[in-house]
Amino acid sequence: MRIHHVDCASLCPAARRAINGEGSLLERGTMPAHCLIVETKTHGVVVVDTGFGRADAADPDGRFGRLYCQLVGVRRHRPVTLLSHLRRLGLSPEDVRHIIVTHLDVDHAGALPDFPHAIVHVHQAELEAAQHPTWRERSRYSQHHWAHGPRWQRYDAEGEPWRGFPAVRQLVGLPPEFLCLPLPGHSRGHWLVVVESAEGPLVHCGDAYFHRGTVEGTPVPWGIPPFEALIASDRRRLAGNHERLRELARSGQGIRLFSAHDPVELQRLAAASP
Ligand SMILES: [Zn+2]
Repeated sequence: MRIHHVDCASLCPAARRAINGEGSLLERGTMPAHCLIVETKTHGVVVVDTGFGRADAADPDGRFGRLYCQLVGVRRHRPVTLLSHLRRLGLSPEDVRHIIVTHLDVDHAGALPDFPHAIVHVHQAELEAAQHPTWRERSRYSQHHWAHGPRWQRYDAEGEPWRGFPAVRQLVGLPPEFLCLPLPGHSRGHWLVVVESAEGPLVHCGDAYFHRGTVEGTPVPWGIPPFEALIASDRRRLAGNHERLRELARSGQGIRLFSAHDPVELQRLAAASP
């Protein structure tokens, strides 16, 4: 399999120093939406997370509101989307047969309408939250993103654990190299997505953490913890989740973890990809 690390949103949130830990508070920060494009030999292209879609990029204010766009820093010019990355790689949208989403927040599920033929793998609890959000959850999801009726494949039963984590295995239509580890906290049905590559397991942690310092045990910029707590569906779980991820990162064995939104992790992994 061939794995591409791509940024499908290229966000620039306010207060760079608080989010990235360098620069000034007045500058805008850097926050990718780190997605995977996995070319498999026998199962077509598998995508993990999608960033924003074509319609989001064309009218972000209309889709998400001006306040969200200002705070999160949704770019109005030079938008990057999964479609543009696929084009650059010489792949077509029809090549994408499977999409696995860590969760359904707007910056992870935005391109689902661009791939109506793909099977979308999601945790059952996340789909329920997204389709029937509470008042507090309403702003994190966009009903536009599933108005086309995606080919959902939902899961809740767990199989044999993976490195101590409960695991969902045997995703429908996919080889065993793809599995998911339910880890709610950021959202109701958030899970991690593992791709067992030839170089070792690659773990897409979605928004289970935001800054590499969380799993590396190095300083985390001061704006990150309150931001994570603010948007968590269950903030009491965050510290425990972080501790477990730190342990997993330290366990070695070639495991590489990454968050959806850390620009340095994206740079490192993209540079190391063949
Ligand atoms: Zn996110």
